[in-house]
Amino acid sequence: MSGGLLAVHAHPDDETLSTGALLATWAASGSAVTLVTCTRGERGEVIGEHRAALEGDGPALAAHRTGELGAAARALGIRDRVLLDEIGGDGPWVDSGMVWDSVGRARAGATIPDGAFVGVDLELAAGRLAELLLERRPDVVVTYEPAGGYGHPDHVQAHRVTMRAVELAFAGSPSAPCVLWAALDEDALRRGYRECVDLGLAVDGLLAPDPHGAVPSAAVPASAVDVQVQVAPVLDRVLAALRSHATQVQAVQVVAGDDADRAALAVYALSNGILQPLLAVESYRCAAGDLARVHLPQGVLVR
Ligand SMILES: [Zn+2]
Repeated sequence: MSGGLLAVHAHPDDETLSTGALLATWAASGSAVTLVTCTRGERGEVIGEHRAALEGDGPALAAHRTGELGAAARALGIRDRVLLDEIGGDGPWVDSGMVWDSVGRARAGATIPDGAFVGVDLELAAGRLAELLLERRPDVVVTYEPAGGYGHPDHVQAHRVTMRAVELAFAGSPSAPCVLWAALDEDALRRGYRECVDLGLAVDGLLAPDPHGAVPSAAVPASAVDVQVQVAPVLDRVLAALRSHATQVQAVQVVAGDDADRAALAVYALSNGILQPLLAVESYRCAAGDLARVHLPQGVLVR
């Protein structure tokens, strides 16, 4: 698939939250996009009283979130969608769950469920992904940085599996794909937090983020960002995808106004109710490969 992109994510919703604009932009250009999801997110918290029965019911939540994932993928224009455990029929590989630590980062909980993705043998999972990489032959592979974006053990595992799979499939080959890690421009993120505060949207159980507080592990100085994606041209697609994940994402709203310097185009909240900015620019670090060899769609810029 010349010009193709393959994204590896831990749970349904991560494709939209971490890489929604990149995937929508790539798909809109007509180039191939493959979305690989490692688990069905069955240990996630559930938003909304009328869906509360899903929380804690692993199989029911897995089925529901797989449906949300399908709707989000359609919104982003993605037709090629793969659940990693279905490649070799080794699963189900399930959401490992997480707890928050004292500085607001995720880590593994006290109990790890049977079949948890975090406990799956790295060589087995990477081998399955390597099979898919050799079939699709993408020019670009995108996943999380080594700490999984914010520390969730499944995200850390997805990172490890992806990096090992690229090595298994393409070690030393001139056709090895570029590897991008989803990042956040820390300065833009803090400005986005400030805008969330200033907008006064922290009502109805929603909280404002702390512009001076801890930031996720994906956050880096602007000087470390290698690739930027403009969100505005695909904003409607990304918003529709966010709204597709109704058990996970709430309070999605566009920030009104035409201030071109604004860091955020929209806001939303996860189950913790803390408003998050949907930044106007998605950021990525290039971890491997030569982006000069890749045909990038309009709206994807190398810095
Ligand atoms: Zn996730």
